[in-house]
Amino acid sequence: MKKIVILFIWIIALLSCNENKIEKHSDEEVLKQIFEEANSSIIAHQNLKYLTEKFPKRLACYPQGIEAAKWTKEIMEQMNLDNVFLQEARVMNWKRGDQEIGIIKLNDKEINVNVCALGRGIATSEDGLEAEVIEVEGLEGLELLTKDQVNGKIVFFNKIMNPNYKNPFRAYNETAGQRFSGPKLAAEYGALGTVIRSLSTAVDEFPHTGTMGIFKGSEAVPAVCIATKHAELLSNMLKQNSDLTFYFKTNCENKPDTISYNAIGEITGSEFPNEYITVGGHLDSWDNSPGAHDDGGGCMQSIEVLRILKKIGYKPKHSIRAVMFMDEEISQGGGKAYLEQAIKKGEKHILAIESDRGVTAPSGFTIDADSLTIGKIASFKAFFKDYGITVFEKGYGGVDIGPLKEIGTPLCGLVTDPTHYFEWHHCANDTFDQVNREEMQKGAATMAALIYLIDKYGLE
Ligand SMILES: [Zn+2]
Repeated sequence: MKKIVILFIWIIALLSCNENKIEKHSDEEVLKQIFEEANSSIIAHQNLKYLTEKFPKRLACYPQGIEAAKWTKEIMEQMNLDNVFLQEARVMNWKRGDQEIGIIKLNDKEINVNVCALGRGIATSEDGLEAEVIEVEGLEGLELLTKDQVNGKIVFFNKIMNPNYKNPFRAYNETAGQRFSGPKLAAEYGALGTVIRSLSTAVDEFPHTGTMGIFKGSEAVPAVCIATKHAELLSNMLKQNSDLTFYFKTNCENKPDTISYNAIGEITGSEFPNEYITVGGHLDSWDNSPGAHDDGGGCMQSIEVLRILKKIGYKPKHSIRAVMFMDEEISQGGGKAYLEQAIKKGEKHILAIESDRGVTAPSGFTIDADSLTIGKIASFKAFFKDYGITVFEKGYGGVDIGPLKEIGTPLCGLVTDPTHYFEWHHCANDTFDQVNREEMQKGAATMAALIYLIDKYGLE
């Protein structure tokens, strides 16, 4: 009799257990659980607070960058994942040095303005650099001038990000050339230096840095970005006094490459352990910034994807990795190292998603893949309509996951509200308090939901 009772209890337990198994739920119910779990959790948001307060200014080659990688490894280790590790990446070793100085000089008047050097930029002499200024509108503006007009001067690139575009990424793409190639083109015209209007949609006092191209020796001149408010001031003063001078001093150093780390956490797949779905962001930030939206938020969302899937009890068929890529901002060493290791280990990567457009309200995905695969991913769109996630279209994946294209991996970039992104981008204004927890969590849920569907149904 006792045996029968035990057997009965065991069957009841088994039945009720099966009842709660996530695999028994409809896809709609699973997505509901994913979005509800994301919305109710404060963990990722609190982790972002810690990251931005403890490890701001975390360029890949700086000690803060390496410490941030070790810390994210620790928090993933506490999640009982199947595999957590650091992956070596060769990164560019650039140091800003002391705070830069920028001064507009007119007669005996001196006005201090906010400037910062560009990544990969070079130092001025110890005394700094002073010259008359010639203002141009972007690279195309400089190309309208003769070398005689430019020789011995500082070129002031003052092309404004077009404020009338709905998507400021378009305006960014149209103006970023002056930052990327301006210091080289100015050198070709015989300029001594360049001052570049910050790539920002706001008029404020934050200089926004960013990287310039790789140039050898004297191919480029020293360069600084100037806060948009001070760019307007300089431009207005030049209209009245074209003979004013500008002084600036930078102290940057370019050293031989060094080693930093990607931090990776993984849930190993039950059926296809050597087939991977990667979700990631980049852990490095500019050294003038806490890097909350760019891209600490995207990293914490990626870890959150693993937490959500574990919490709802989903056991993926494929291995799912959260990857904190290192060195997106200067030489993309983390993304390259990840591809190298994938090839070396014969890993098949069936999908990669990146969140690196700010952790504001999500609206869907841009997809970089062949049209058949885009169609398959877009076929999941109906599952997302209750959550306002409607964008499933051909487009860009992301800088860090980009190298995976070489092995045929379909890439998805999380699309978020871009309205204010360039007010925060690459400057001291990219702070934790600009991040809305619900929006950030909804982004994590959106990625977790797509990963769930693709893991379950595949893309073949
Ligand atoms: Zn970024």
